[in-house]
Amino acid sequence: MNLNSYTFERQIDTYAYADVVVIGGGPAGTAAAIGAARSGKKVALLEKSAQLGGMGTLGNVSIFMPIGNVTGIYREMIAEMLAEYLPEGHDESIAPQYSPFLLRHYLNEKMKKENVHVYFHSEFVGTIREGNKIKAVIMSTREGLKAFEGERFIDCTGDARVAIDAGVPFTTGREEDGLTQPMTLMFQMTNTGSPVTPFLPEGCYEYKEVSDLPQGRRLYWEQNNNGTLLVNMSRVKANGAKIEEVNYAETEALKQVFSIAYYLQKTGYGNYSLSHIASQTGVRETNQIEALYRLTEQDLVTGARFPDVVAQTNYEIDIHSPDAAKTTDERKIDGYDIPYRCMVPEAIDNLLVAGRSISATHVAMSSMRVQATCYALGQAAGAAAAISMDRETAMRDVPMNELHEQLKKQGVKFFVK
Ligand SMILES: Cc1cc2nc3c(=O)[nH]c(=O)nc-3n(C[C@H](O)[C@H](O)[C@H](O)COP(=O)(O)OP(=O)(O)OC[C@H]3O[C@@H](n4cnc5c(N)ncnc54)[C@H](O)[C@@H]3O)c2cc1C
Repeated sequence: MNLNSYTFERQIDTYAYADVVVIGGGPAGTAAAIGAARSGKKVALLEKSAQLGGMGTLGNVSIFMPIGNVTGIYREMIAEMLAEYLPEGHDESIAPQYSPFLLRHYLNEKMKKENVHVYFHSEFVGTIREGNKIKAVIMSTREGLKAFEGERFIDCTGDARVAIDAGVPFTTGREEDGLTQPMTLMFQMTNTGSPVTPFLPEGCYEYKEVSDLPQGRRLYWEQNNNGTLLVNMSRVKANGAKIEEVNYAETEALKQVFSIAYYLQKTGYGNYSLSHIASQTGVRETNQIEALYRLTEQDLVTGARFPDVVAQTNYEIDIHSPDAAKTTDERKIDGYDIPYRCMVPEAIDNLLVAGRSISATHVAMSSMRVQATCYALGQAAGAAAAISMDRETAMRDVPMNELHEQLKKQGVKFFVK
């Protein structure tokens, strides 16, 4: 059967105007919203789900991987929510396990304090462009399709949804075959204090050996001292931005979760019951925009430094095998800079892309994708959007000395090691 293609035309009312419109409320989006609001801008943060925090809450990631720079908004979050982990200096590493439920609540309150207007259940549908600029984004809301107008837009959807719709070129996954890192459904088990009856629902797998497990390893954290075991052990070969692959991943990953819980109950965690499963299977990697600069593996391993630095990290190269192998490529690095240009699409004057879908190769994104780095990139994007408005310049022409000055005012410190 031939599938048709349609032109879809509607008159859509503008629901709201903001100086800076941020699409996607994950680590990058929440920080971008704060970064712009603190620079005096009216900010709308549009999020398709019911919660802020992105993979950190929706995907139950629940641990901040160490990046060697606890700074800016990320540092504030640690100070306010996880004070016991706050290091003295900015250039230190911490890897706190947190409650995703607390982070969800914390971010709601934080946005109120920062005067960011959050719109939940608002999913990006398309851009309205005028020449080299985006004039509005069309969102699917609980009241139907609505336009949100703005002066500057920051795409923090993780998938570069806004940028791609606006015509920004992009790549997906490994350079040689387009395969992305696999998806994982995170879950928690809780120590009940007494033996539980292991339960394996119909259709699930009975893993006998560690080598039978989806990642061929046991990977969990028990840092919260409250009986919570955070489990990152499922693995599904799928691209989280493809309809059929997500359909497969959402059912396969859930089967794996029940199977892993059963395995753990039989192998040392006999007192633990399955207490929470993330509402969606986590997505590590989908699309990377092409921007003024592409971060590469070479930059990571040589410790590249850039005059337009907006984030610094020493998080390892961390690639869960994209081709269904039970391996993970983990390689320590000393630290590198991420330049502002990785967030700037060439052809659009008023758009930045922050978070895991910045311009980076498959290997480079495996290191920059973790939450603390995405908070840093988001904060810089928000501050840059405000400066570009004040200066009436395109995003690509934001003066770096002003951006660095603004970030310093917002508590960001950079180091060269
Ligand atoms: C299984 C797994 C384990 C991980 N483990 C760790 C870890 O231990 N520590 C760590 O620090 N990092 C970890 N990461 C990586 C980290 O969580 C992500 O890379 C990070 O959250 C990316 O931030 P982001 O803001 O770019 O995107 P996301 O966190 O993906 O947030 C994107 C946001 O945009 C919203 N959105 C998407 N599309 C639309 C749309 N069309 N309209 C409106 N809103 C939209 C989403 O709902 C979401 O809220 C892990 C990731 C996964 C998947």
